[in-house]
Parts: sequence; C-alpha cells; structure tokens
Amino acid sequence: MYKDILAYTSAHSVTLVAVSKTKPAEDIMKLYQSGQRIFGENKVQEMVSKYEVLPKDIQWHQIGHLQKNKVKYIAPFVAMIHAVDSFELLKVINKEAAKNSRTIDVLLQFHIATEETKFGLNKDEAFQLLTVLEKEPLPNVRICGVMGMASFTEDTNLIRSEFRSLKEIFTYLKSRFFMENPFFKEISMGMSGDYKIAIEEGSTMVRIGSAIFGDRH
Ligand SMILES: *Cc1c(COP(=O)(O)O)cnc(C)c1O
Repeated sequence: MYKDILAYTSAHSVTLVAVSKTKPAEDIMKLYQSGQRIFGENKVQEMVSKYEVLPKDIQWHQIGHLQKNKVKYIAPFVAMIHAVDSFELLKVINKEAAKNSRTIDVLLQFHIATEETKFGLNKDEAFQLLTVLEKEPLPNVRICGVMGMASFTEDTNLIRSEFRSLKEIFTYLKSRFFMENPFFKEISMGMSGDYKIAIEEGSTMVRIGSAIFGDRH
C-alpha cells in the first residue's frame, strides 16, 4: 500500500506524512528503510518516546491538538506543527523555539467540517490572528500554510466542498498577508479515506495513517 500511495503523491508533487500514531517503532523503522522520512504523531509523549529511539533524520510532524504546556517537550526537534489555532499557542511555540535556538514551522488549523469541534480557526479569526502578528512579530515561528480535516462522511461532494473552502482560505490569506513570503505554501489536507479528493482540490501535503500502517485498534 505504501508504495502505491507514495507513487501517487510523488506524481502529484504532494508531500506524504506517514501518520504513525499508536504504531510501534518497528513499524516506523520498516517504512524508514523504504525511504520514508516524514512521520506524523498526535500525542506529544508518544512522539518524544519514538524520537528518542528512532533515527535522528526523521522529520516529526505534530498533527494533533497541542496543549501549550506540552510544547516544550517537542520544541527541540519537531519539524512542523500542523494544528495551531490561537495566538497564545503561537507565542508559546515562539518562546520554546527561541530557547532551543530554532525556528519552528507551523500551519494554521481551520475548522472546515460540519462536525462540532473545539479546534480550528475560521477565516475571520485567522484574519485577526495574522493582523496581531503583523504588529507583534514572532521571529522563531514560520507560518507555512494551512491545515484542515474534512467531515467524516461518505458524501464525497461535501468532502470536496470542504477541501475547496480550505484552498480558498489559503489563497485569500496568501494574497492578504503572505504575498512576498515564499514559506507560506502548504495546504495540509487529505487522509486515508479522502486524499485523492484532497489532491484534486489542491492539497500539497497529505497525512495518511491507516492506509499505510493498517487499522488502529
Ligand atoms: C489520525 C490522523 C490522520 C490519519 O488518519 P487516517 O485515516 O488513519 O489516514 C490524519 N490527520 C490527523 C490530524 C489525524 O489525527
């Protein structure tokens, strides 16, 4: 399955984040030996444990909700944080990145699905956040784009329209805040069940777990 997915994402110049949450380090090592270097985790403690035992050239992506008090554990090594949805969290990431003499790449998470969730910005909230950031720059974070999750549904038209709305948000923010900024270029959308639709709608980065590693129990 991995080989097929990699062939598909590579053919579309899309970055593949292999989502290894709940899977043991041995499973990650097998994929590493096939050449995969980008892995996604959603729990801080699990990511740290795996980071400690696995090769140091792995790029770890934090894809799940991140609590402010846990940023310090991943700040020394995390390659990208996908789920930033408040200025307060950005400030903490900036502070912990500075302590480690690093700049940390982040994505702004948007709430695009119909399901209720506490997480993710809407367009107005992002506008406000980025307006504050213009006045109060955070030199140790680099905003590299947007992230979102479509509804968990069989309705592919709904999924497609949600991905399209994220692409629209990206295009708007790019033109308003990041026109001269080459780093703001990622649209992280698409999982095992919907990554082909996401790529058709402009995804640059897919986060795929179960289709690569098998079902999680
Ligand atoms: C678990 C998870 C994924 C991967 O889900 P699959 O359906 O197993 O591909 C992607 N993104 C986030 C934020 C996740 O938590």
